[in-house]
Formats: sequence, C-alpha cells, structure tokens
Amino acid sequence: MSRDYDVIILGSGPAGFSCAMQSAKFEKKALIIEANENYLGGTWINTGTVPSKALRETASSIYRYTAQFGDEGRKPYERFRMRDVLRNKDRVLATQNSEIKDSLIKNEVDTALGFGRIVDPNTVEVTREDGTKKRFTGDYILISTGATSKKPKAFEIDHSTILDNRSILDIHYIPKRLVIVGTNIQAMEFATIFSALGTRVTILSGQKDYMVFLDKEIKEEFDGILKEAKISVFNRKRVLQVGPNPLRNCTEVKFEDKDSGEQHVIETELVLYFGDRKPNSANIGLEELDLKTDRKGFIQVDENHRTGIPSIYAAGDVIGHPSLASVSFSQGRTASCHMFGISRMDTESAIPYGIYSIPEIASVGLTEDEARRQIGDVTVGRAYYRNLTKANIARTPRGMLKLVFEAESLRLLGVHIVGSGACDLIHTGQAVLNFRGTARYFLDTVHNYPTYSEAYRVAAFNGVNYVHKTGVTYMDILKEE
Ligand SMILES: Cc1cc2nc3c(=O)[nH]c(=O)nc-3n(C[C@H](O)[C@H](O)[C@H](O)COP(=O)(O)OP(=O)(O)OC[C@H]3O[C@@H](n4cnc5c(N)ncnc54)[C@H](O)[C@@H]3O)c2cc1C
Repeated sequence: MSRDYDVIILGSGPAGFSCAMQSAKFEKKALIIEANENYLGGTWINTGTVPSKALRETASSIYRYTAQFGDEGRKPYERFRMRDVLRNKDRVLATQNSEIKDSLIKNEVDTALGFGRIVDPNTVEVTREDGTKKRFTGDYILISTGATSKKPKAFEIDHSTILDNRSILDIHYIPKRLVIVGTNIQAMEFATIFSALGTRVTILSGQKDYMVFLDKEIKEEFDGILKEAKISVFNRKRVLQVGPNPLRNCTEVKFEDKDSGEQHVIETELVLYFGDRKPNSANIGLEELDLKTDRKGFIQVDENHRTGIPSIYAAGDVIGHPSLASVSFSQGRTASCHMFGISRMDTESAIPYGIYSIPEIASVGLTEDEARRQIGDVTVGRAYYRNLTKANIARTPRGMLKLVFEAESLRLLGVHIVGSGACDLIHTGQAVLNFRGTARYFLDTVHNYPTYSEAYRVAAFNGVNYVHKTGVTYMDILKEE
C-alpha cells in the first residue's frame, strides 16, 4: 500500500532531526511535524542546549577577562549589560535556526507545523493552532516529542522574577542575587554562569546531595570550586513560598529543612526553577494504541528504539535517561537505521557525559568506586591543572583529570575531568576506552605542548607510579607489549 511518507517524525529536536537526516541519506521520504509553530529545533536549539551554552561562553569570557585584567573595583553586573551578554546567544540562535531549516530543505525533508497525534500505527493527524487538521500516512512513525520541566508545587513561575530555563534567557539585567531551586545538571551550569557574572548565587536542593553520580574526587574538587565562587548549596530543603516583599524591594523565598522542619527566609532578586523532567507523551494517541509507557509516562523501547508496535519508534527525552542532545542525535539515527534495514554497531560504546559549568565537568566509563566494586584491582592516576603549563598560561588553575584503570593490565576503565575544556578533552579518553586501550597509550603518545591534553600523560605516569609502588617494576610496565 502506498503511503505519503516512508517515515513521519513527531518533533524537530535532535532525535527527530537526526532521524530525518539519516532517512533522507537513505533516500527515504521523511516528514517532520513540529508543534511549535514559531521555530524548529526543540529544546536543543531554542530553550535548552544551545542558548545556555552560548550564554555560558559569554559569561566565561567575562570571567577570564576579569581574572586577567582585574575588575576595576566593580562587579561584572556593574560593568556589563545583560542585553550585551545575551547578544551572542541571539546571534547563535538565529544562525542555528536558519541552518536547521536549510538542512531540511537541502535534504528534501518536508515539515508540517502543528500538534501531531497518532491515529493508527501508520497515520498521524496534525492540528494547527487555528484548529485546522490534516492527516498524513507513513510506513514508520518516530515519536521524538521531548520532555518539559514539571511545575513547582509551592509557587507559580511568573517569568518576571520567578523564571525557568526559557525565561532566564530573556532577562533585562544581571541580578545581584539569584536563588536557584533544584540541583540537576542545568541548575549547576546556570549557578556557575551567573556567579561568573558577579551574581551571588544560592542553591536550594531537595536532595541529600547534588550530582552524586560523579566520581567522588571530581565532586570534591567541584565542591571546592563552588566554595571559592561563594556559591552556597543548601541540601534537603523544601521551598514553601516565593513572593515579593515590597517594603524591602526584593523577592523572598521561604523554605524549611526537610529533617528539622526549621524555617528560613532568603532575600533575592530573581528565582530560577529547575523541576524534574516529564515526557511529552500525553495526548499524542498512546492510550488509544495501547502503547507502553513507564509510571512516569516515558515511552518504553527496545535497543533499536522500537516500541511494542512494530511501525512506531521513539527516541530522545521522551524515552527518559540520559536525556541529552548528544545521545538523542544517536538514538534518532539508530531508529532510522533499524527502520530501513541497516544495523548499527556502536550500542556497546561508552557514552561521555558533559556538564557545562564553569569550569566544565566530563566523564566516561566507570568511576573509581564502580571500578573497585566491579573489577577489584584498580589503580587511579591524577593530573592537577595547577601543574599544567597550559592552565598556568590560561589562568585556569582549578581542576583535575583522573584516569581509572585495571592495575595488572593497565586497561583503561574510566576518565573523569573537572576543569577547562573537560567536555572536549573527554573524547580522547572515550576513544581509548572504546578501542579497549590501556593507560600505556598516554605514556607512549606525544601530546601537543602546552595543552590541557597533556593531563592525560601526567595522570598516566602518576597512576603507573602507584602500580610501581605495589611491587611491579617500572621497567616491566614499559617493556610490556
Ligand atoms: C537548560 C538545558 C540545557 C541543556 N544542555 C544540554 C547540553 O549542554 N548538552 C546536551 O547534550 N543536552 C543538553 N540538554 C538536554 C537536551 O536539550 C535534550 O536532551 C534534547 O533537546 C532532547 O531532544 P529531543 O529531540 O528528545 O527533544 P526536544 O529537543 O525537546 O524537541 C522536542 C520537540 O518536539 C515538539 N513536540 C512536542 N510534542 C509534539 C507533538 N505532539 N507534535 C509535534 N511536535 C511535538 C516540541 O515542540 C519540540 O520542538 C539541555 C536541556 C536543558 C533544558
């Protein structure tokens, strides 16, 4: 039976976009349906990944400039206007938005604006904001509708003084004080971005601790960085109320300690809220199709991203963890490959994680604790940024790179970095890890000098020294093939 399209894709974020592009490369006819009638690219280009990174880049430049030339006795918020700080973000959004449109046109991917709902395993109905409806048929359907932040229970986001990840990108001034509610990755990124702009940042977290998935030593180093930046983190706190105090011309955040019940009030200019993410899986026809989701609404898929219905696939944030643009690109591509009979090989490879705080954090593979539990006899090697010539030149002395490897074979098990350039640096470690390499690679390979990459060599020597101390001679290690 001839259908309108080979594949119909709901959502134009990284999962949907990459599925469309891959399908086009296979010379398949693809249609992207996008509910947001103003722009394509989803959270990726418009409200999440790209704009926050563009803002981070500007804040980081200001931070480096201040470190080098001093602050003339004035905080960045007294010297820079938010309008100018956000100019880079506006430029990047404009170029990225036009690039995504050009790519779709060049690759002959059709787009339809409106809210997509799956009517049957091969049909999608699109409803535009003006109420007009249109139906399309396709051999396959990809659900890549993303996720959105849950609303806070105790207060309303007014997008004026109480903001979320969208409205923070449109503020008109750099606040002197900012309270961030939540401790996910993005909360930590924004905390360091605003701190670099001179803002006094306080984080209120409901959890026992933040970013507990990090290698312990990396987290300790980051704790030190937050402390140095005077960013206060209060754990196990529940926000009770947020509201204006006209007499003191500020916003008050009332919160309590979850254990003692003790209540406190903190004064601030702005509040930035990060809630848990919930999948955009409601009202898209899943109930009628009896398509499986978990308790929270995340769609369940197999390793090829196929749902329980053979013609329907799902990818990106709508299927849950790890909810990253980087991974969503790969998932969308995997789904397309499976639809059109191409098997992909990289399902075993280790995924890197990047946190774009200032400085960055990145990791791949096992943490030291995980490696000790799973492998047993492991060794770690450390390189501190303060000992790297590059970091000295660039005035970026905070940070460390840590290698985790098997003591006997030197097989690399994990790499963990906090420091400038971590999110790029991690890919060297990822390559060695995915090719099942050993720490010897870093001993034997010439790295450009001065670079942050040199940290790999320093950490490898440091780790090998530990092995040496446990009785293996240095000669033995270097002689081994
Ligand atoms: C502040 C912030 C910073 C981030 N930073 C990073 C980062 O640095 N690195 C990284 O890897 N990840 C980052 N992420 C995560 C990343 O943005 C997401 O993982 C990624 O965008 C998910 O891609 P997606 O394709 O699943 O969905 P999205 O990008 O959310 O796109 C989904 C699209 O589907 C559309 N849609 C929804 N329902 C329908 C429907 N029924 N019909 C048609 N269209 C529909 C939406 O309008 C949207 O355009 C960040 C997220 C946030 C919030």
